[in-house]
Amino acid sequence: MGGVLHCESVPLPEIARRFGTPCYVYSAAALDEAWREFRAALAGRDALVCYAVKANSNLAILARFARLGAGFDIVSGGELARVQASGGDCSRVVFSGVGKSEGELRQALETGILCFNVESAAELSRIERVAEAARRPAPIALRVNPDVDPLTHPYISTGLRTNKFGVPIEEAAELYLHASRSPHLRVIGIACHIGSQLLDPAPMLEASGKVLDFVLRLERDGIRLEHIDLGGGLGIRYREETPPPIAEFLAPVAALFAQRPERLLFEPGRRLVGNAGVLLTRVEYLKPGAKRSFAVVDAAMNDLVRPALYDAWHDIAAVAPRPGPAAVYDIVGPVCESGDFLGTARTLALAEGDLLAVMSAGAYGMSMSSNYNTRPRPAEVLVEGGAVRLVRRRETLADLLGPEQAPDETGISEP
Ligand SMILES: *Cc1c(COP(=O)(O)O)cnc(C)c1O
Repeated sequence: MGGVLHCESVPLPEIARRFGTPCYVYSAAALDEAWREFRAALAGRDALVCYAVKANSNLAILARFARLGAGFDIVSGGELARVQASGGDCSRVVFSGVGKSEGELRQALETGILCFNVESAAELSRIERVAEAARRPAPIALRVNPDVDPLTHPYISTGLRTNKFGVPIEEAAELYLHASRSPHLRVIGIACHIGSQLLDPAPMLEASGKVLDFVLRLERDGIRLEHIDLGGGLGIRYREETPPPIAEFLAPVAALFAQRPERLLFEPGRRLVGNAGVLLTRVEYLKPGAKRSFAVVDAAMNDLVRPALYDAWHDIAAVAPRPGPAAVYDIVGPVCESGDFLGTARTLALAEGDLLAVMSAGAYGMSMSSNYNTRPRPAEVLVEGGAVRLVRRRETLADLLGPEQAPDETGISEP
């Protein structure tokens, strides 16, 4: 097809022409395929896959997973509102996060979510108070911290004793006892999430073993659970990683719990959306140099912060590769920070105006974007076969300036 990159059957240059750049482009087929792989790995087992909304919270993506029967893992009242707006089933929502506000707890309780994944003793007492006031018992699981090294980047590991997440497993027993005696709490589960971009199934299995031991102990104390939530974190390929198939993570875990009646929950984010999206960007300027050459593109760290934040690698491909000599470029954005790069030392043949695709940008791309440098955020489109749907229009300057007000000349506002 003329050597031009496509998303499904749509040439990327056509998307750039219609919607401009920078632009996030998602493939519906890739989303569906990742979902099917999860379901297939759990076939025959009572299990609920709760998509981690923070990975990509676009309403069209949530609606797609909702239609496929997904639950959702949320970390804020805002994400709960998104699940509702997308037609998601709130009775399949688990609420994670270390800092749930009283308002968020009330909102989620009234909405009738499946479960609060409680991250501390202090949060447990707050939930108890909110539930008492609302006269509605709150369904809870404790998120335990199994102290397992996920063997991933330190910024995205969450299950070590040194992380802020979860309750140490040895403190959890007492909290479970307390919760089980409270008329305002319904103890229904246990949760655990050890980190992100896992490439080895062993740590997840090791954590699951610790969770199983603990579930048996709770049972001896007379506490029975309805579900066991083993979190997300399954890794994807960004560069040369070879992430095992989803079944290699989930099948051993399911086997471990084969004799248990509890429903199994998982909370994948990245694995469902990461490889389903690219960030489409255009070369604004080439800036050759003696030491280093730069390709300045129209996407920046505000649009995709992972390289700047985690030193993450994304492949960057020319949308219409051109013949001629390649050079080594740092691919940088217009933002005034030295950390504003999408990739360093990439060998490409480029000219001004060329389109580039930043690959594997479907997870933690748009959802982590900002307006830094007063840059309107990109458009998002969802491709299905030959059809392209705009699922978030490009922001305008009016969107950015709207909420603000400059004081009048005296700086004193009228009462
Ligand atoms: C972020 C997060 C997830 C999803 O992580 P992925 O690496 O995107 O799969 C799941 N559960 C919790 C509690 C999280 O914080």
